[in-house]
Amino acid sequence: MRVSATNPGLAPTLAVIGGGQLARMMAQPAIALGLPLRLLAEADGVSAAQVIPDHLVGDYRDLATLQKVTDGCAVVTFDHEHVPTEHLHALAASGLAVRPGPDALVHAQDKGLMRERLAELGVPCPRNAIVGSVAEVEAFGFPCVLKTTRGGYDGKGVWVVRSAADAAEPFEVAERTGVRILAEELVDFTRELSAIVARSPSGQAAAYPVVQTTQLDGICHEVIAPAPGISEQLAGQAQAIALRIAGALDVTGVLAVELFETVDGRILVNELAMRPHNTGHWTQDGAVTSQFENHLRAVMDLPLGSPAPRARWSVMVNILGGANSDVGRLYDGFPHAMARDPHLRVHLYGKELRPGRKVGHVNTYGDDLEDCLERARHAAAWFRGDLGNQSE
Ligand code: ADP
Repeated sequence: MRVSATNPGLAPTLAVIGGGQLARMMAQPAIALGLPLRLLAEADGVSAAQVIPDHLVGDYRDLATLQKVTDGCAVVTFDHEHVPTEHLHALAASGLAVRPGPDALVHAQDKGLMRERLAELGVPCPRNAIVGSVAEVEAFGFPCVLKTTRGGYDGKGVWVVRSAADAAEPFEVAERTGVRILAEELVDFTRELSAIVARSPSGQAAAYPVVQTTQLDGICHEVIAPAPGISEQLAGQAQAIALRIAGALDVTGVLAVELFETVDGRILVNELAMRPHNTGHWTQDGAVTSQFENHLRAVMDLPLGSPAPRARWSVMVNILGGANSDVGRLYDGFPHAMARDPHLRVHLYGKELRPGRKVGHVNTYGDDLEDCLERARHAAAWFRGDLGNQSE
């Protein structure tokens, strides 16, 4: 077993593939737990490489690189879902604990396989079908949503199509990239919800409160925990769906289930993520145990921490580069944001502010939802430069 040079002999080393903000935020509880992390980063200086000294820069699509970075590690986990499934099988065959494992993760990698499996499990989903041509989309019916089965994120690879002409682009992308196209009914939803659970290899599971999430241009923008006005029955149903999927797919680590709440009060599963998720960032300050800590505990097969909220309401707002965000440093926003709201919690990812880029988030919590929303929205807008505060 690899003993980390930076933490000799204390605990087994956990390998993390992918140097984004999710890996960076795993580092905080890893420090507290004394758990050494070893990172595979895409490039020098990326978000997680800034804070995890034991890292290697390389390509996660290369098996030899994956073997090198996981050499001597007890467990490997992920910041993203893009490691090729066959490489995960090869790592698992070599005796490494791959968590989540390839047979689970493939359902977060491929939306077509995810829909097939959820149908087998009887989990409610939008009507859907794999389509091979524009004619098949016409037969499926307009309007509908077309999605690449693999490789999409943050709304990329998702098209709302209302005519045969709209359907041309998705098939061009499919041809270029060799992925299949999934058609789904255009769901008339009142809001989007997310149910996050953590599950360990021994089968212990913890369910976080169900949250409401608002997307802007396909990117998570704001999260309210718990989802305002949600009935106990619907929240319980959403948690039960997430726990059921985690158990049936043998997910280890955090599973996020994105859901639509429909006009007629039903919930439908939109998609799955098997890693800490943007809709769970509120847990860093609003729950007894954050999703990042429970992900680490789960993949190391340690007892899970309580997912209970610490306050009546928590709000998370992403700091996303906007039209005015090409100037100034995020650090310049600190004096005002911190002075205005001593209760504000700020999380930055070590990234430069650029239009459309997620560079951090803020969390607030308290008894008054309107107050939490106002404080979080103001702070995020301030960091984005939308309040006219950033100067050349
Ligand atoms: P990504 O993998 O990029 O996150 P999603 O499948 O979650 O893609 O889709 C992104 C967004 O598009 C969703 O959050 C939702 O707002 C919208 N969307 C996706 N599928 C549907 C659908 N079947 N009906 C209506 N809106 C949808």
